[in-house]
Amino acid sequence: MSSIIKILPDHVVNKIAAGEVVERPASVVKELIENSIDAGATEIFIDIEQAGKRLIRIIDNGGGMSKEDAEACFLRHATSKIRSDADLEAIRTMGFRGEALSSIASVSRIRMLTARQGDLSGLMIELEGGTIKNVSETAATKGTSIEISHLFYNTPARLKFLKSPATEFSHILTAVSRQAMAHPHIRFRITHDKKPVLELPSSQGFTERVFQLYGGELAENLIQFSGKRDVVGVYGLIGRPAYTRADRSCQDFYVNNRAVKNPSLTHALYGAYGDMLMRGRHPVGFIFIDMDPALVDVNVHPAKAEVRFRNQSQIHDLVWEVLREGLRNERLLAAGVPDAETGAGDVREAAEDYVAGQSFAGGAGPVNYAPLLRRRKTDLLPADHQQELLPPPFQEVVPERRMQKPLLSEQYLYPVSQIHDSFIIAQSREGMAIVDQHAAHERVLFEKLQDQHGAGEVPVQNLLIPAQVDLGPAEASLLSEQLGELDRFGLRVEDFGGGTFVIKSVPSLLVGADYKRLLLDILDEVKVHGRSGKIDELRKDVLSVMACHPAIKINRRLDIKEMEILLADLFSCRMPHTCPHGRPTVVRFSMEEIKKMFKRI
Ligand code: ADP
Ligand code: MG
Repeated sequence: MSSIIKILPDHVVNKIAAGEVVERPASVVKELIENSIDAGATEIFIDIEQAGKRLIRIIDNGGGMSKEDAEACFLRHATSKIRSDADLEAIRTMGFRGEALSSIASVSRIRMLTARQGDLSGLMIELEGGTIKNVSETAATKGTSIEISHLFYNTPARLKFLKSPATEFSHILTAVSRQAMAHPHIRFRITHDKKPVLELPSSQGFTERVFQLYGGELAENLIQFSGKRDVVGVYGLIGRPAYTRADRSCQDFYVNNRAVKNPSLTHALYGAYGDMLMRGRHPVGFIFIDMDPALVDVNVHPAKAEVRFRNQSQIHDLVWEVLREGLRNERLLAAGVPDAETGAGDVREAAEDYVAGQSFAGGAGPVNYAPLLRRRKTDLLPADHQQELLPPPFQEVVPERRMQKPLLSEQYLYPVSQIHDSFIIAQSREGMAIVDQHAAHERVLFEKLQDQHGAGEVPVQNLLIPAQVDLGPAEASLLSEQLGELDRFGLRVEDFGGGTFVIKSVPSLLVGADYKRLLLDILDEVKVHGRSGKIDELRKDVLSVMACHPAIKINRRLDIKEMEILLADLFSCRMPHTCPHGRPTVVRFSMEEIKKMFKRI
């Protein structure tokens, strides 16, 4: 045998392509919706069974296909959208590679029914593993219905990599949501295991669509922005700086209505917020860029999920500027909000309230935050509600440990003073130390919550006024799966359906925290760990989120007694030297170091 190189047969080539194009059921849903959009559909119905493993059915009222096209569309590189390489420069359609249907067909069973306006009959075509098994004519109305069943039935390795049904379905919802955001006028309906999940009537625009998709909580916290330079337009919605998330979900970029990932766009988004973002927090944004298709290469990723701009840095700068302008219009930048680390959110919230209540003169000098910090929303509530909403007096957070002997007495610190209402200066046996009061209190609360949770006895406080959170369907379905788990943490949340959740009770240690924000932050952790199925990680992170919320903020004055209690508590902890997120709680200086600094030794 002289030649060992062979051209692979089509069915193998398709299966290989499927590996890139069809990663999971959500990828199939994405490709099929794109086809429906390209076919001019104004209604797209999506039925899913067993998170897409058993069935994915997409029905559209688009233009449909001729009988010849219906048979040809499953061939590799079969497309009606481009004709020549020159067309690649001017892509306005979602699809153009002509490989979605062939790839999907190679790893599933398909039944498709399609008809054009005025056709006397439609064509029904059935395939298995990419091979046509049956073609027949049948009555049909204009549009295309395509059913994918037993996805990955002939690629067991792929099947094994699928995550839990909840996770796969949440990926599907994310895929639908992205498309739905980019096409607010199209009506979408999605069912899962025959139950309705999402009904999105044709909407007027992005704001209405965000509301339909993600609920009022998010929609009410968005700022509209738009700007243009030359032929490039940038517009959309971004979150108010005070509304941030613990993860990067809800950051969607669209280029000519195609949902894309592009690190430089993400960079521009973060850059626009600059130091308004606390460390570890992420902004939300739905950012649309419209430009001449010749200036962007959409053919750099098999699933068309990435793009490359011809002039990357100009687009980056434009997006940055337009977003920055949008935020500035919100008068937050002009207010000169300082860059406090922890607790900055509270300061900003107070500042926003303050600014909103003032006839604000642009370009005013620095704002004096001291009076703002003392002003709280609860000041406006009737007295009998304040009891429940105010943070507990500090002493009560740490009752029985006050008299305990510190476990690590040699490390014990004697508070001397507090600086800038944020750090405790203390004397130690061998010198001095600075304690981050927030980090220290977080550690104390974390271990306390951990002990209570471990013992299965978390004291709870029922809320007189239950807090309500409205979520979009994807997040709602993830959260509703974890309600039992949250209950074990003392956080009792009821699912009222339609994305509405009500927080009925909270762990006593958390009384006074911002419960809504707490739940949203926990949800972000659920998204990360719920997917990976690592329940221990989830528990640890939920505990640290919980510990962070009521913990004493930077910018709170403590008296010596409070400092003593905090330090005593800290050194009763199992791991006093770091906060639950791993940041140090204490920085120590020995007398030797201090003397050296002053050149005494
Ligand atoms: P691409 O979208 O890149 O052209 P696909 O494999 O996704 O490639 O689809 C192949 C072709 O089949 C499309 O170009 C289009 O002509 C036709 N087609 C696919 N889905 C639909 C649909 N829902 N309605 C009408 N035509 C469709
Ligand atoms: Mg396509």
